[in-house]
Amino acid sequence: MFPRKDLFALPEGIVYLNGNSLGPLPKSVTPRVEAVLTQEWGKRLILGWSECRWMEQPIRVGNQVARIIGAPSGSVVMGDTLSIKIYQALAAALEMRPKRKVVLSDTGNFPSDLYIARGLLSSLDKGHELRTVAPGDIPERINAGVAAVMLTETDYRTGRRHDMESVSRAARDAGAVMIWDLAHSAGAFPVDVAGCGCEFAVGCTYKFLNGGPGAPAFIYIRPDLTERAVPALSGWLGHETPFAFEADYRPASSIERMRVGTPPVIQMTALEEAMRIWENLDMDELHSASIALSELFIAEVEARCDGLSLAGPRDPALRGSQVSFTSRHGEAVIQALANRGVIGDFRAPDTMRFGIAPLYLDETDILAAVDALEDIMSSHIRDGRLSNMP
Ligand SMILES: *Cc1c(COP(=O)(O)O)cnc(C)c1O
Repeated sequence: MFPRKDLFALPEGIVYLNGNSLGPLPKSVTPRVEAVLTQEWGKRLILGWSECRWMEQPIRVGNQVARIIGAPSGSVVMGDTLSIKIYQALAAALEMRPKRKVVLSDTGNFPSDLYIARGLLSSLDKGHELRTVAPGDIPERINAGVAAVMLTETDYRTGRRHDMESVSRAARDAGAVMIWDLAHSAGAFPVDVAGCGCEFAVGCTYKFLNGGPGAPAFIYIRPDLTERAVPALSGWLGHETPFAFEADYRPASSIERMRVGTPPVIQMTALEEAMRIWENLDMDELHSASIALSELFIAEVEARCDGLSLAGPRDPALRGSQVSFTSRHGEAVIQALANRGVIGDFRAPDTMRFGIAPLYLDETDILAAVDALEDIMSSHIRDGRLSNMP
């Protein structure tokens, strides 16, 4: 079943280990986007909104995403970017727990999520506090003062995962609202948002879902709570009847209340087409393939490359679809790899990240990446310094 390299327009001679940051271009996206430009926008003009069903696209694509994160149809909608969706989810969560003043997150969270939270709390000016603790301390720090637990399931630096099930349960037991950011989870392995019972989930679609740079984000609300989730960004397309142009805002009764303004149709079309890859794909099989490639990568690197330490969990069950190593030469090594067509990335101060996406990677790619890494580590490090970098 894997890989499905034929579906992607990857450049010749490249081993792409950065799909955890920006997934590659699925071939079928190009003609589909061309058609939306020339046939839809070009020929139908404003009629495209109804005749080409652009207006329903955010909910239609939301249903494609729902399938792979274990959410029921009609509980996910697309739009804006992940930073905005975090804002909406957290604002709605705080409205649900007006007496509680703590937002609990962890120090491994992606900075934008924490920046957005701080910005929201300060503009609310109701005495809230953002409390960030070590990831492992989260369960014991959830208490009756916590309004919302806001976590990214998979750490963007090390791939370490939280246990969505048990953390969501701890939040529920303490009466806190649970918000999961699935940026590095959606499309990487099976996710069960409905099963874990969380109130909100959000994520982006340009990483493992290959929706393209700037692809719209998603937001999920647990269906029984939709009508209790107050939209902080009360734009017209989240209105119950946007085209009645009423004087007063009335949120839609459905998940569409989390829509804000006009959707980015061209970008959404690229994503909708990219999401078709997932229609006949078994997430458990994808995950097994990811684990097999990751384990191979780790074993080969540890056997052949000195000076690199595995960052994050060794147990694949605790790790997302990426492998990170630390090295004090990390930045130079990532650059040297890129010069040889092996694309990973670097996160300061010392982390080299490698996304493992079995849709377009196989064992040959992994071994080629390790060959390059071994050569760089063995022939270009002298006296603890990198020299003669190719
Ligand atoms: C990638 C990522 C983001 C990026 O947010 P945008 O608004 O899409 O730029 C935010 N949060 C997390 C956890 C991420 O991994």
